[in-house]
Amino acid sequence: MSARLILGKDVSEEIYAELRSRIEVLRSKGVTPGLAVVLVGDDPASQTYVRMKGRKCEELGMHSVTCIMPARTSQEELLQKVAELNGDPSVHGFLIQLPLPAHIDEEAVIAAIDMRKDVDCFHPANVGRVLIGNPEFLPATPAGVQQMLVRSGVETSGKHVVVVGRSNIVGKPMAAIMMQKGEGADSTVTLVHSRTRDLPSMTRQADILIVAMGKPGFVTADMVKEGATVIDVGTSRVEDPSHPKGYRLAGDVDFESVREVASAITPVPGGVGPMTICMLMANAVRAAERANP
Ligand code: NAP
Repeated sequence: MSARLILGKDVSEEIYAELRSRIEVLRSKGVTPGLAVVLVGDDPASQTYVRMKGRKCEELGMHSVTCIMPARTSQEELLQKVAELNGDPSVHGFLIQLPLPAHIDEEAVIAAIDMRKDVDCFHPANVGRVLIGNPEFLPATPAGVQQMLVRSGVETSGKHVVVVGRSNIVGKPMAAIMMQKGEGADSTVTLVHSRTRDLPSMTRQADILIVAMGKPGFVTADMVKEGATVIDVGTSRVEDPSHPKGYRLAGDVDFESVREVASAITPVPGGVGPMTICMLMANAVRAAERANP
């Protein structure tokens, strides 16, 4: 039996429809939610993400600000930009596109962001609030995964969620979100990583397996329990001469074999991918609502 597909496009469209109504309510009060993105340097992948964020803001009728700063920007100049955005009432949320050039202390810059505007949810105070179950925001990618589970009817309460990967952006907050009390959570969570012994014996216990490793095709059918839900966050570029771009995007899960064992699965591309920008927009709308109760 082939697993049913959970598609980020469908789930994100549902969320965008809800966001549009909330934006309408804000606009009727004379408030246009504003999101700013700061890009330091000219990394092509970052430029693409920044363009996508700007385009999505405009599509939703939000105020969009893009600040492009040269790679030689000093830490002081960047901190000045952060202070400026902290004080700009038309910008309800902003983010600094990572990674930053090596001469800039990423942690110091993130810590300078007003936590009420920290839509990436990277500020240590916001990370702590996620852990204690009283979040200002949820980090976009793990929040997107949770929404995919909830909106596709996957029961999480009492289920064993195994998260593969312990990054600050995906793995750790994913585990923190699923262990909370409440809808879309209440799970028993195990987090595994490269030092875990006998990884397949752990992943085989998962009712819900969430994989964020950056290792294309790593999770094979023999590592998955019959009937599990499998969420593949991994997105790697794999050389593929048959593709017009010379590469294709690959997930961490061997989709073709695992779909025969799982009951539900996210493909790559088309799975988790579209959820990140969607949840970022949701955070920006939430920031605007909080600032204009
Ligand atoms: P990361 O910071 O490189 O973390 C990878 C994690 O995987 C680490 O915790 C690492 O363990 C673990 N790992 C690596 N090899 C392993 C192995 N053989 N066995 C067990 N664990 C292993 O990556 P990330 O930022 O979390 O991103 C993970 C993937 O998700 C990437 O492909 C990225 O592109 C993708 N991603 C997608 C989205 C999206 O779709 N919107 C958003 C964010 C990330 P150690 O800690 O022990 O090294």
